[in-house]
Amino acid sequence: MGPGPVNADPRVLRAMSAGLVGQYDPAMTGYMNETMALYRGVFRTDNEATLLVDGTSRAGIEAAIVSLVAPGDRVLVPIFGRFGHLLAEIATRAGADVHTIETEWGTVFAPEQIEEAVARVQPKLLAVVHGDTSTTLAQPLDALGAIAARHGALFYTDVTASLGGNRFEADEWGVDAATAGLQKCLGGPSGSAPITLSDAAVARIAERSSVEAGIRVEDDLVLADPIRSNYFDLGQILEYWGPRRLNHHTEATSMLYAARECARLLVEEGMDAAVERHRIHGGAMVAGVAGLGLSIFGDQRYRMHNVVGVEIPGEVDGERVRSALLHDFAIEIGTSFGPLHGRIWRIGTMGVNARRDAVLATLAALEQVLRAEGAPVVAGGGVGAALDWYDGEGAE
Ligand SMILES: *Cc1c(COP(=O)(O)O)cnc(C)c1O
Repeated sequence: MGPGPVNADPRVLRAMSAGLVGQYDPAMTGYMNETMALYRGVFRTDNEATLLVDGTSRAGIEAAIVSLVAPGDRVLVPIFGRFGHLLAEIATRAGADVHTIETEWGTVFAPEQIEEAVARVQPKLLAVVHGDTSTTLAQPLDALGAIAARHGALFYTDVTASLGGNRFEADEWGVDAATAGLQKCLGGPSGSAPITLSDAAVARIAERSSVEAGIRVEDDLVLADPIRSNYFDLGQILEYWGPRRLNHHTEATSMLYAARECARLLVEEGMDAAVERHRIHGGAMVAGVAGLGLSIFGDQRYRMHNVVGVEIPGEVDGERVRSALLHDFAIEIGTSFGPLHGRIWRIGTMGVNARRDAVLATLAALEQVLRAEGAPVVAGGGVGAALDWYDGEGAE
């Protein structure tokens, strides 16, 4: 019940144990095409260029940034938590001229603040985290695609923590590139990074990819502005997933099975229903921790459905509570980073854990552990408030 990774759905684990096939086996290429179609449903896009980057979520982030950004390009990163700093760091390593704006952890930006910065910096890429698990908040993205487009920038977002549990509309919101991972609301293991790219993003990549320029391995790179990575050259990866099936890396077969099963679970449930399930059970967790008498961190108007920040009561040792939950109840909750270290726990309700019994058991266990620590908790207040929520605002 932490902020991710979470335990995987049993169906995903079963899919991973299926037999391996060669990367050009028609069964495998069929699965690749199916996976692309399924993730169009998950990202809510018609983008042909919807595929997997092999590696954890960070592989998707790095592939998007090194493929879209050339040395010297201006990049704007609005930072409201730890993962915004990661986007800025990766863009810096890619040689970009990186500009940042920051807001206090626990808050997000108004669209006007982002537009003012875009107008001032004139970036080629606007790179924004959607849900930042470090603060539990989600930056509203619906206006940002239009803002980027008005100023001639591409718009990239990291939706690893939010996708599947919070509304996300790649096409409607004008997103040029979005990347994710499996280990949060998608309910899988880490190790595969779904990505979707708009036509404009694909065109930018094509100018820079050695495949499009017809360069063969034995030739010298003659592109003026080549993508500075082979593994993360999205031009080459797109050709590998596209009709030409040009060899790049060996597809990570078992991870593809996992990613495909994660998407099948979500598409079968329906994306709206999956988001609603995360709203219901995330809301029950919030009601429950408040019912115990604990305070919730951050501007609640922008909280992600799938993770809540809980202020650690002054008299309590946060790490002792976490280890007692793990030792006595086999329940893991998260600590936190940077300015929030030692100040909040982060409790997740995502993927297969966005479930009534998981929420109620966690609240019951937390009450007992806090009581043993001598914290003044409301007896029965957590489970009771969660049950009230399920009867009221959280009714299915
Ligand atoms: C959890 C998370 C990641 C994780 O990246 P990994 O490479 O899979 O560890 C990335 N971005 C965000 C916003 C996250 O919350």
